[in-house]
Amino acid sequence: MLKQGKIEVDGERCKGCLLCVRACPLSALKAGATQNSSGSYPVEAVCNGKCVACGNCYTVCPDMCLSVYEQMAAERAA
Ligand code: SF4
Ligand code: SF4
Repeated sequence: MLKQGKIEVDGERCKGCLLCVRACPLSALKAGATQNSSGSYPVEAVCNGKCVACGNCYTVCPDMCLSVYEQMAAERAA
């Protein structure tokens, strides 16, 4: 059974390089449209229901802006 995951982006650290967007096999991340205080456009989670907590995005991010959580069944039902 596939895991279900959840992503959190540190919007102030993200520089919008999009390496994580390219690395996600399920298109669960997208380029953001809102500028942060550094003038970058941090990525956004498209839909947390798509993420399977594979960790690819976390692995490729050069600035450690992403947190990946594996959701438990009770959280998914909520
Ligand atoms: S953990 Fe995997 S599925 Fe989830 S957003 Fe990152 S690359 Fe995509
Ligand atoms: S790889 Fe990291 S710095 Fe680059 S867009 Fe993704 S979260 Fe932002």
